[in-house]
Formats: sequence, C-alpha cells, structure tokens
Amino acid sequence: MFEIASLTLREVRLPLKRPFRSAGGEVAARRFLLLELTDGEGHSAWSECVAQELPSYWPETVDTCWLALKDWLAPRLMHRRVGHPARVFELLSSGLRGHRMAKAALEMGVWTLAAAREGVPLAVLLARASGWMVETGQRPRAAVESGVAIGLQDDLDLLAELAQSAVARGYRRIRMKIEPGHDVLPARAVLQAAGPNTPVIADANGAYDPDDSAHAAVLRELDALGLHMLEQPLAPDDHVRLAELQVRMTTPVCLDESVGGVADVRTMIRMGSGRAVNLKPGRVGGLAPAIAVHDMLARVGVPVWCGGMLESGVGRAYNVALASLPGFSEPGDLSPSERYWERDIVRPAWAMESDGTVKVPLHSAGLGVEVDRDYVDQLTVRSATL
Ligand code: MG
Repeated sequence: MFEIASLTLREVRLPLKRPFRSAGGEVAARRFLLLELTDGEGHSAWSECVAQELPSYWPETVDTCWLALKDWLAPRLMHRRVGHPARVFELLSSGLRGHRMAKAALEMGVWTLAAAREGVPLAVLLARASGWMVETGQRPRAAVESGVAIGLQDDLDLLAELAQSAVARGYRRIRMKIEPGHDVLPARAVLQAAGPNTPVIADANGAYDPDDSAHAAVLRELDALGLHMLEQPLAPDDHVRLAELQVRMTTPVCLDESVGGVADVRTMIRMGSGRAVNLKPGRVGGLAPAIAVHDMLARVGVPVWCGGMLESGVGRAYNVALASLPGFSEPGDLSPSERYWERDIVRPAWAMESDGTVKVPLHSAGLGVEVDRDYVDQLTVRSATL
C-alpha cells in the first residue's frame, strides 16, 4: 500500500521526423500528455496518454483526457492508499464510464510506481499479475519482435521502396495503412516488395462499408491477395457485419478500434467478428485490462499483438513491457525511437537489433529508461500539478 503524493500533468508537442498519414488524417508533430507520479518517499514514475489531437481513431482526445485526468480521475487517486495496481482500473471506473485512454495513462503510471517501489522491472510485475503466465509458469521474454507501420503513400514506387527497406532493416512484419481509393494496388505493391517471408497486414481503420458495392468488391479483392490479416475493415461497433464479412473471407480479420476491453473480445470470439486482436493498453483502460485481454486470447489461442499509437519513448516502454508476455504471438508495433523522432524524450533511446527485436529492460527497476526532463520542459506547452 502506498499513496500518490503528487501528480504533474503536462501537454507536450514532439516533432515527427516526417508526417504520418492514415485514413484518420495526417500528423506532423505528436501532441500528447505526460504524467509524472511520485509517492513522497523518493520514487517517481512517468506515463503517457496515447489520445490524439482529434477523435478520428478513438472518441477521446488530448483535451478530453486533460479534463478527465485533472477533474475526475486524478482526484480519485491522490492522497489515498493505493493497493495493488491491478485494482486501479476498477477504482477509476466505478460510476465513471468510458475515458479509457485517460484512465490508462494514470493506471499505467501506478504500475511503474509500484515496480519502482518494489525494485523490479515493469515486465516482471506484469508477468506476476497475469493468471495465464502464473498457471503456465512462463517468464517475460528478454526480447520482443517488432513490426513496422507504413502510412498512406500516393507514390507506389516509394511505397514499395519503404517496404523493401523495412525488410532489409529486419522488421518481422509490415502493417500498412489503406483507405478507399488507396487499397488493392498499394497492398499488392507492398506484398510484392516484402517477399514471401514478411507478413503484411493492411489496416483500414474502419473505413469500408460493406453495403457500398465498390467497397464490397475491394474487400473481395483484398481477400484474394494473401494478406496476413485485414485490420479493422469496418466500423468499430459493427460486430454483426464484421462477423458476416469474416465468414466470407479467408484472410483473418484483426480487430483494433472494436476492442475497448474484455467484453469486446468475448463478443469477437462468440460472434466470430474477428480472428486476431491488435491490443493497445491505452485503448482498453490500462495494463490490468490489457493483461485480462491477453490472458483470454492466450487461453483460446487467438493471435494477438501489441499495437502502437505513435508513442514517445515513455509509451514505448509500456508497450515493450506488455509485449514481453508470451501470449503476444505476433510482432508488435515497437519501432525504435529513430523511426519517428529526431530526438526521443528518453535515455537510452529505444533501439532495434538487426534481427528486428527490441530488448526488454529486465535489469532495471520500473520502465528501464530515464526521461530527459530538460528536453520535456522545452516541449511542454501547459502543465498542472495536483
Ligand atoms: Mg489499426
């Protein structure tokens, strides 16, 4: 049991090396929230809120999270005894629906604070909290496989070049963005460039409507290409039509935006609305809900991987720790810092080996990276200490 003695909320803007484009729009600098929690006994922990500027991927935004964290969520946790971090999501959710990205930012920080207090790596604390890990006697992985995400590109030759260089760099999987009008030809170009040994996932971010005959034809063509998975082809809440689509398709449908927690995974499994999950801890409310989803999928053998939200090195640390649980059967979105940022906010920056793996920091307590506070100060556009 411990208390959260102080919490500092910051909004920062971190410039991207190059703009990233998806069906949800283009982003040139990542605007996001950082939290710093302390326990008043010399321990502190940083966490990151993955919400974006606009509600194009998920209903929450940087501004709704700022409000939810400052006015509703942080006051529930401050200056009171906190038990195991696995209980924090429940505490934040009683009588307070939704706002999962805001809840996750706070919940994840509490996990790291608990890990720092115990002097154990975050990955070890997560492994101990996973029922499936405990039952099967498994330990966190020492290294996790990384895939790469490629944004929408108008130029097919450039797209093919990007895919080839990702394979040469060692990435274990390519995930490419598609949208109506940029789908079959780009997917074919990436599959050809990637070659037979690198799986390719096409991510539509919910942009297709099966009642539109042109979209339906594209979905049939995509199915014939030999993609590893088709991610979120239809709107997030459309489990009925996702299930109908999955019956007609050979390619496994992977759900991303459709999965806000364990209940959605249960719906997916029972209805057959997908055969794989892109799991992002920020989207499901934090690490405890993410572990619950991981355990449920690992028990039934459904493929799952840890997705990314253009996180800085702080958010990346959480994803690497989570992806060290062996139920994650597919490579995660765990690109090194240099892929997105001129300069990351953590030291050391995240690096990827030539075999496409990222080392899990299993020899230091907490996140395993230090936050560059001077640089974060320079990037901060507003802050509030509670
Ligand atoms: Mg996605």
